[in-house]
Amino acid sequence: MTNLDHLWAGWRSDFIASAYGGGPKDGPAPDPCVFCRILASGLPDDEVHIIWRHPSGRAFAILNAYPYTSGHLMVMPTRHVAGVEDLTPEEAADVWEGVRAAVQAVKEAYRPDGVNLGANLGKAAGAGVPGHFHMHVIPRWVGDTSFMTAVAEARVLPEPLSESAAKLRASWERVALRKSSSIDELSR
Ligand SMILES: [Zn+2]
Repeated sequence: MTNLDHLWAGWRSDFIASAYGGGPKDGPAPDPCVFCRILASGLPDDEVHIIWRHPSGRAFAILNAYPYTSGHLMVMPTRHVAGVEDLTPEEAADVWEGVRAAVQAVKEAYRPDGVNLGANLGKAAGAGVPGHFHMHVIPRWVGDTSFMTAVAEARVLPEPLSESAAKLRASWERVALRKSSSIDELSR
């Protein structure tokens, strides 16, 4: 596997599905999909690692239960739609707002050297949950690719998910506060 293959391996593997049952190893994702099951479960956001919900109810962000690196977030519409072209303009705007905030929260919480931002559209592209559009936000560090090569599929993580969730919630709030205070200043 070349370095480039490895660089993209994070996109091709969408491991959250196997955490909640179903997913790539067990064949096609069950219906309803894992994200819709989480949303319908009524479990507290803390327990399912939902980091953020748009006030509109149209978009949310959740930690990947089997992250490529710590802080691996996914941002998506609440509605079960597969394609980026299936989003309404309002959903697209709310998801994009979440993606922007997620990148800022990840940068603030983890101080990474870079961030991968992207989506797998369709099974062939590596989507683990192809029926429910979602964008990955993954903090990256210089040298983490070779680290992953060394550990292969072990996916040793430096921190538990609950810790990632707490960090990201706190940084997400700080980002939102800064945004609202700068909007106040603009309107003055
Ligand atoms: Zn769904």
